[in-house]
Amino acid sequence: MNLFEKRLGPFYDPWEAASEAVRRRVMRRRLADYAAWARRLPFYRDRLAGFDPKAEHPLLKVPVLASDDLRDLVPPKSERLLTAKKGGCTVFQSGGTTGSPKSALFASGEIDGLDLPNARGFFAVGLTPKDRVANLWAAGSLYMTFIHVNRMLQDYGCVNFPLSNHAAPEFTHMVARLFKTNCVTGITSVALNALRGMERLGLEGIRIEKLYYGGEHIYEADKAEIRRRFGTEIIAAPGYGTIDSWYIGYQCQLTPTGVFHCHDDQCWLEIADEATGRPCAPGETGMAFATAFPRRLTPIVRYRVGDRAQWVGKPCPCGRTTPLFRLLGRGDDVLRIGFDSVAYDYVQDCVAEVGGLSGSVQMRKERFQGRDRLIVAVETAAPKTELSRLKKALEKRILAQRPTLAKAVRTGEVLPVRVELRKPGALPRNPRTGKLIRAVDAL
Ligand SMILES: [Zn+2]
Repeated sequence: MNLFEKRLGPFYDPWEAASEAVRRRVMRRRLADYAAWARRLPFYRDRLAGFDPKAEHPLLKVPVLASDDLRDLVPPKSERLLTAKKGGCTVFQSGGTTGSPKSALFASGEIDGLDLPNARGFFAVGLTPKDRVANLWAAGSLYMTFIHVNRMLQDYGCVNFPLSNHAAPEFTHMVARLFKTNCVTGITSVALNALRGMERLGLEGIRIEKLYYGGEHIYEADKAEIRRRFGTEIIAAPGYGTIDSWYIGYQCQLTPTGVFHCHDDQCWLEIADEATGRPCAPGETGMAFATAFPRRLTPIVRYRVGDRAQWVGKPCPCGRTTPLFRLLGRGDDVLRIGFDSVAYDYVQDCVAEVGGLSGSVQMRKERFQGRDRLIVAVETAAPKTELSRLKKALEKRILAQRPTLAKAVRTGEVLPVRVELRKPGALPRNPRTGKLIRAVDAL
């Protein structure tokens, strides 16, 4: 039986329809088991002293595990987080684009365990055995995602094309034409680049019905463009998580952009105010912290995911009972321009409102003679005759809803906002992952 045929109940697996009482009992038991497992390490023995399995928020008094702490606990620096010093494992790298890689160690059974959240997520966003999927996830250089997505796709019952992020646009285009791939999955910027590349090479005989992205947010401007150009029917994220935190969430076909169901049998997700440590009520924004039940080789308790999020507090119309959260992106994509703090999401909203521009946007800060300048670079395929109008419209739009910034520009404390329009694919990307570099602070 393939993974598609193994599904049980109205959704992929019975957990997605479990009642509140079952969900609470199972999750608490898993958390207690996991804490007991982690306690075998001296590192967690002290940290878990404050674990209170009966409390409403059992981990509230347990210290947070920051990304930089983690680097010092695992090889090559140390083995303090390893529950087994012998036996095989696979070494992946997580984050960190400069310097020595931060490693993440997975025992082989742990990699197999990604089948469930992968199959659950891809099923929820409409993957069927009829689909022919171009897998453009990042491969090589100790990267993880391609490996487990490939594993799941080959066992799902669909037709799998392991192209990776290294495939040239011409090759992806040829495969789409000859083999009729109807579905693309990959890191958002890589998948969008591949689609835009296909369009440049001609769309005759090509129809991309489904785009399954991840690793980065997708913006409404991008979604609108892809729907319009390709007639794409489903654009959704089958999974959200980090290599350290495991899978945290997945979308269904009814979740709006940025909203996810929580894989709450896989991880204990907390959303808390970082300044006070107080857990957030639905609708309140806080930092996401994850405790990753399947990570047994290197237990991960209260890991600071690095993304801001909020609980939605309402059930999803799809009927799944896995709770919804809204992802608000990384807290660090903000530039301080004069006295104003400009968030990347704000700039993206302005780009979508202007229209005719893609969602590939980079914002930069420059300092000239002691004054700040915000520069917004946007990729667009608009004709030359349109560029001057689009540039002015976006400059105006950015200032329109920011009175502090607009005033600072008027008085000369801050230099005027500059919009630069670039050809598709011209903005700088991380050479390893293909992710767009979203915000660049002044040196
Ligand atoms: Zn749903």
